Amino acid sequence: MSAFLSAHGVGVVIEGRAILADVDLEVRPGEVVALVGPNGAGKSTLLGVLSGDLGPSEGHVELGGRRITKHSAKDLARQRGVQLQKQGLAFGFRVEEVVRMGRSPWYRTPAADRDEEVVEESLGRADVAGLAERLFPTLSGGEQARTSFARLLAQETPLMFLDEPTAALDIRHQEQLLGVVREAAEAGAAVVVVLHDLSLAAAYADRVCVLADGRLRADGAPADVLTGELLTEVYGHPVDVLHHDGNLVVVPVRARGERPAATPTATTDEEASCSAV
Ligand code: ADP
Ligand code: MG
Repeated sequence: MSAFLSAHGVGVVIEGRAILADVDLEVRPGEVVALVGPNGAGKSTLLGVLSGDLGPSEGHVELGGRRITKHSAKDLARQRGVQLQKQGLAFGFRVEEVVRMGRSPWYRTPAADRDEEVVEESLGRADVAGLAERLFPTLSGGEQARTSFARLLAQETPLMFLDEPTAALDIRHQEQLLGVVREAAEAGAAVVVVLHDLSLAAAYADRVCVLADGRLRADGAPADVLTGELLTEVYGHPVDVLHHDGNLVVVPVRARGERPAATPTATTDEEASCSAV
């Protein structure tokens, strides 16, 4: 299928520094693309450019065959949804209200008839139905992330961007969220998701893009891209890629005896248990 979203020679320069350079990328409907790379590689900046929130210094982005800058704000909001890395505070809003905000692009359209149904379904799919009445700022980081995911689902866009959506989630919710992302892709959505956990990227993405120093170093199937050699170089730390039960598992190499022993100076139970693990 042809590309729904494409970046052509994208570069971003901020205060004289090249944050992104020469990025070419295509995303097709039905595809989950994982964007990985070290801190500061430019992943969030690239997501901003791809979603049309940030204008590139060089190159351009096309959405549905038309330059993204030519789409109206309303049209963009119906085409693509973004779950940002940093959750807004949404001061004073309850979880259900935050999720309902995802429906605002559909206000006064026939799709608005489904608002109630979609909000309820999105709360359930992100596993926040039990938190619906809670005030957003009082939630834990992981609960806030799941609420933002529910809002993204409620927006019902054919293109979704997620910036480190699993960073604050426990294992069950990580798997659940990426399972829902895969379902959305199987229903035809195009998804770009920034992930730090390379084993999760291997398990759930159709393609993995590795960004380092603002440049796309690799773009391909997880098994082709996630090699010990490339990851060791890009992350500046020795990395092993193991095969377990048909899955790729990416682990940092640790020198024997590197783990610090429990220190006798710990003064509280918590410190003692932290240093003992
Ligand atoms: P990543 O998401 O891969 O960790 P970012 O895209 O957030 O990286 O940032 C890439 C680099 O660009 C970082 O070094 C960051 O400090 C810098 N950067 C991003 N936005 C700005 C900005 N508005 N002003 C100055 N530097 C920025
Ligand atoms: Mg980032």
